[in-house]
Amino acid sequence: MIPPFTYEQLPGRVVFGAGTLDRLPEEVGRLGARRAIVLSTPEQAEVARDVAQRLGAQSAGIFAQAVMHVPIETARVARDEARRLDADCAVAVGGGSTIGLGKAIALDSGLPIIAIPTTYAGSEMTPIYGLTEDGLKETGRDRRVLPRTVIYDATLTLTLPTALSATSGMNAIAHCVEALYAVDANPIVSMWAEEGIGALAASLPTIVGTPDDLAARTQAQYGAWLAGASLGAVGMALHHKLCHTLGGTFNLPHAETHTIVLPHATAYNRAAAPEAMSRISRALGGGDAAKGLHDLAKRLGAPVALRALGVTEADLDRAADIATREPYPNPRPVDRAGVRQLLQDAWAGSSPVV
Ligand code: NAD
Repeated sequence: MIPPFTYEQLPGRVVFGAGTLDRLPEEVGRLGARRAIVLSTPEQAEVARDVAQRLGAQSAGIFAQAVMHVPIETARVARDEARRLDADCAVAVGGGSTIGLGKAIALDSGLPIIAIPTTYAGSEMTPIYGLTEDGLKETGRDRRVLPRTVIYDATLTLTLPTALSATSGMNAIAHCVEALYAVDANPIVSMWAEEGIGALAASLPTIVGTPDDLAARTQAQYGAWLAGASLGAVGMALHHKLCHTLGGTFNLPHAETHTIVLPHATAYNRAAAPEAMSRISRALGGGDAAKGLHDLAKRLGAPVALRALGVTEADLDRAADIATREPYPNPRPVDRAGVRQLLQDAWAGSSPVV
């Protein structure tokens, strides 16, 4: 029997498919906007220039200074620039860092965002924002930061390096995994999450072998959409808490950290979330869920050990302390000894014991 549940629908328009970037001017007009500020990282400034060119007179200017984790100083400069340009919408083209900068502007000004994601991180589908001040990353939820329109054009992901494609894809799978055993999990979101894992697990190995396979890139983006929607709809648990702690405290790369921790966080919750495990297993084509995720990461040539990122064994004690300081929902109760062992396994990169 389906148990009672609550589900809240987030608004948003999605334009999906290879070549849909052509529709951007029309989508800006649809929002009633006339002066878009185009955001990107310095590495993707050329893409931002192309986007601005497509917009023609609808482009107010480019701000190509997005960086990882949205430092408050960068957010302030971007907000000032949006005001100076008299922008009435923000077009964020890039990964989670660029879309995060758009969100920081929207949080302050209510400016509508059009997100054009070029990784699989999923930020475009969530009302979650992050801002880093004095080395501390604060995250929150606010409907104002949810992009109004998302354009998924897989041709923009063809340049995503294979290593980042693999880890960014595993980052998306992590959203799906935790959505399946979330405290507020529900059949609607679980359907997206299982489908998301399946789409990503099927496409990522092809992408790593043939990065310009547009069909595989499109399938991965479809999975990333479902993963981002799952992240935006229900609460995350131990895995996201650990990655947030590790990333913030030791300045580790976001997607790699997710890739390494995921199999071990899944193993930690194995016995406490059997229904989620069977859905993950089904999406991966059978077998133990945690081991399947570890095997997938290895097959993609992604890092599987925290020690490969320069984390020392001594750091693990600190990470375990921070991650278990405050209680939060997780299928298996969060205890320090268990989390310390999880981190040890993730540090060594061993296959999760079945
Ligand atoms: P990123 O945005 O930091 O991008 C990494 C690098 O890859 C950048 O230099 C970027 O310019 C480059 N890049 C991106 N797409 C490219 C492409 N197609 N071709 C070539 N280069 C490309 O990485 P990310 O993993 O997408 O985002 C990570 C950040 O997003 C973290 O700060 C994380 O906390 C945040 N995030 C937030 C949410 C949310 O809901 N708020 C969700 C997921 C991630």
